[in-house]
Amino acid sequence: MNPRIFFFDIIFIFFFIVIGSNFAQVKERKIIEDKVQKSEKEWREILTPEQYRILRERGTERASTGKYDKHFEKGTYVCAGCGAELFISNTKYNSGCGWPAFYESLPEAMEETSDNSFGMIRTEITCKKCDGHLGHVFNDGPNPTGLRYCVNSASLEFEPVEKEK
Ligand code: FE
Repeated sequence: MNPRIFFFDIIFIFFFIVIGSNFAQVKERKIIEDKVQKSEKEWREILTPEQYRILRERGTERASTGKYDKHFEKGTYVCAGCGAELFISNTKYNSGCGWPAFYESLPEAMEETSDNSFGMIRTEITCKKCDGHLGHVFNDGPNPTGLRYCVNSASLEFEPVEKEK
Protein backbone atom coordinates (compact mmCIF):
# COMPACT_ATOMS: atom_id res chain seq x y z
CA MET A 1 0.00 0.00 0.00
CA ASN A 2 1.15 3.48 -0.82
CA PRO A 3 2.06 5.03 2.57
CA ARG A 4 1.02 8.46 1.32
CA ILE A 5 -2.54 7.32 0.51
CA PHE A 6 -2.68 5.47 3.82
CA PHE A 7 -1.71 8.69 5.63
CA PHE A 8 -4.49 10.65 3.93
CA ASP A 9 -6.98 7.90 4.77
CA ILE A 10 -6.08 8.23 8.43
CA ILE A 11 -6.42 12.03 8.35
CA PHE A 12 -9.76 11.69 6.59
CA ILE A 13 -11.14 9.21 9.12
CA PHE A 14 -9.80 11.28 12.03
CA PHE A 15 -11.47 14.39 10.62
CA PHE A 16 -14.85 12.64 10.43
CA ILE A 17 -14.56 11.29 13.96
CA VAL A 18 -13.88 14.81 15.29
CA ILE A 19 -16.73 16.39 13.32
CA GLY A 20 -19.10 13.57 14.27
CA SER A 21 -18.37 13.80 17.98
CA ASN A 22 -18.84 17.58 17.90
CA PHE A 23 -22.30 17.12 16.38
CA ALA A 24 -23.17 14.57 19.05
CA GLN A 25 -22.07 16.99 21.78
CA VAL A 26 -24.11 19.83 20.32
CA LYS A 27 -27.18 17.59 20.15
CA GLU A 28 -26.64 16.42 23.75
CA ARG A 29 -26.24 20.02 24.97
CA LYS A 30 -29.45 21.05 23.16
CA ILE A 31 -31.40 18.32 24.98
CA ILE A 32 -29.96 19.39 28.34
CA GLU A 33 -30.70 23.08 27.64
CA ASP A 34 -34.34 22.26 26.80
CA LYS A 35 -34.79 20.53 30.16
CA VAL A 36 -36.37 22.36 33.07
CA GLN A 37 -34.01 21.84 35.99
CA LYS A 38 -34.76 23.13 39.47
CA SER A 39 -33.44 22.41 42.95
CA GLU A 40 -35.58 20.58 45.48
CA LYS A 41 -36.17 23.94 47.21
CA GLU A 42 -37.30 25.64 43.98
CA TRP A 43 -39.72 22.80 43.20
CA ARG A 44 -41.18 23.04 46.70
CA GLU A 45 -41.78 26.76 46.16
CA ILE A 46 -43.84 26.32 42.99
CA LEU A 47 -45.65 23.04 43.70
CA THR A 48 -48.24 22.18 46.33
CA PRO A 49 -47.08 19.51 48.85
CA GLU A 50 -49.26 16.93 47.04
CA GLN A 51 -47.85 17.88 43.62
CA TYR A 52 -44.32 17.73 45.02
CA ARG A 53 -44.88 14.29 46.54
CA ILE A 54 -46.20 12.91 43.25
CA LEU A 55 -44.13 14.74 40.61
CA ARG A 56 -40.78 14.83 42.40
CA GLU A 57 -41.02 11.79 44.71
CA ARG A 58 -42.89 9.45 42.36
CA GLY A 59 -45.94 9.32 44.57
CA THR A 60 -49.48 8.29 43.66
CA GLU A 61 -52.69 10.08 44.60
CA ARG A 62 -55.46 8.09 46.21
CA ALA A 63 -57.81 6.54 43.63
CA SER A 64 -60.86 8.60 42.67
CA THR A 65 -59.66 11.69 44.55
CA GLY A 66 -57.99 13.60 41.71
CA LYS A 67 -59.57 16.70 40.19
CA TYR A 68 -59.34 15.39 36.62
CA ASP A 69 -60.54 11.82 37.14
CA LYS A 70 -64.08 12.61 35.98
CA HIS A 71 -63.21 15.70 33.96
CA PHE A 72 -64.16 15.64 30.28
CA GLU A 73 -63.93 19.17 28.90
CA LYS A 74 -62.24 20.10 25.63
CA GLY A 75 -58.67 21.28 25.94
CA THR A 76 -55.08 20.33 26.65
CA TYR A 77 -53.56 18.71 29.72
CA VAL A 78 -50.14 20.14 30.54
CA CYS A 79 -47.47 19.18 33.08
CA ALA A 80 -48.18 20.76 36.48
CA GLY A 81 -44.43 21.12 36.98
CA CYS A 82 -43.28 22.82 33.77
CA GLY A 83 -46.34 23.47 31.58
CA ALA A 84 -45.28 21.11 28.77
CA GLU A 85 -48.24 19.84 26.74
CA LEU A 86 -48.85 16.15 27.50
CA PHE A 87 -52.33 15.03 26.40
CA ILE A 88 -55.30 16.37 24.45
CA SER A 89 -58.80 15.91 25.78
CA ASN A 90 -60.14 13.84 22.89
CA THR A 91 -57.77 10.98 23.85
CA LYS A 92 -59.12 10.92 27.45
CA TYR A 93 -61.61 8.21 28.35
CA ASN A 94 -63.36 6.89 31.42
CA SER A 95 -61.36 3.80 32.36
CA GLY A 96 -63.03 3.47 35.75
CA CYS A 97 -59.63 2.94 37.38
CA GLY A 98 -59.81 6.05 39.58
CA TRP A 99 -57.22 8.16 37.77
CA PRO A 100 -57.37 10.18 34.55
CA ALA A 101 -56.76 7.82 31.62
CA PHE A 102 -55.70 8.60 28.07
CA TYR A 103 -55.15 6.24 25.15
CA GLU A 104 -52.47 8.41 23.57
CA SER A 105 -49.91 11.02 24.63
CA LEU A 106 -48.71 13.94 22.56
CA PRO A 107 -45.61 12.97 20.53
CA GLU A 108 -42.23 13.35 22.25
CA ALA A 109 -43.93 14.52 25.45
CA MET A 110 -42.85 11.82 27.84
CA GLU A 111 -40.21 9.30 28.72
CA GLU A 112 -40.98 5.67 29.54
CA THR A 113 -38.98 3.70 32.12
CA SER A 114 -39.43 0.20 33.44
CA ASP A 115 -40.56 0.32 37.09
CA ASN A 116 -40.36 -2.83 39.21
CA SER A 117 -41.34 -1.24 42.53
CA PHE A 118 -44.03 -2.74 44.82
CA GLY A 119 -43.53 -6.18 43.26
CA MET A 120 -45.13 -5.11 39.97
CA ILE A 121 -43.68 -4.79 36.51
CA ARG A 122 -44.93 -1.46 35.20
CA THR A 123 -43.82 1.26 32.81
CA GLU A 124 -43.41 4.61 34.49
CA ILE A 125 -44.12 7.76 32.48
CA THR A 126 -42.29 11.00 33.22
CA CYS A 127 -42.45 14.45 31.64
CA LYS A 128 -39.65 14.71 29.09
CA LYS A 129 -39.04 18.36 29.88
CA CYS A 130 -38.84 18.37 33.69
CA ASP A 131 -38.59 14.63 34.53
CA GLY A 132 -41.68 14.93 36.72
CA HIS A 133 -43.43 11.66 37.55
CA LEU A 134 -46.81 11.42 35.81
CA GLY A 135 -48.01 7.85 36.33
CA HIS A 136 -47.79 4.60 34.36
CA VAL A 137 -48.71 3.28 30.93
CA PHE A 138 -50.44 -0.11 30.57
CA ASN A 139 -51.39 -2.34 27.64
CA ASP A 140 -55.07 -2.63 28.52
CA GLY A 141 -56.36 0.53 26.84
CA PRO A 142 -58.97 0.95 24.12
CA ASN A 143 -58.52 1.27 20.36
CA PRO A 144 -56.82 2.67 18.38
CA THR A 145 -53.63 2.29 20.49
CA GLY A 146 -54.54 -0.33 23.10
CA LEU A 147 -52.68 1.80 25.63
CA ARG A 148 -53.86 3.27 28.92
CA TYR A 149 -51.86 6.20 30.19
CA CYS A 150 -52.88 6.26 33.85
CA VAL A 151 -51.94 9.69 35.16
CA ASN A 152 -52.15 11.44 38.52
CA SER A 153 -54.41 14.52 38.42
CA ALA A 154 -51.85 16.27 40.61
CA SER A 155 -49.28 15.97 37.81
CA LEU A 156 -51.60 17.79 35.40
CA GLU A 157 -53.10 21.18 34.78
CA PHE A 158 -55.91 21.70 32.29
CA GLU A 159 -56.02 24.41 29.65
CA PRO A 160 -59.51 24.67 28.15
CA VAL A 161 -60.07 25.35 24.46
CA GLU A 162 -61.06 29.01 24.13
CA LYS A 163 -64.77 29.29 23.44
CA GLU A 164 -65.53 30.87 20.05
CA LYS A 165 -67.15 34.26 20.39
FE1 FE B 1 -42.89 18.76 33.14
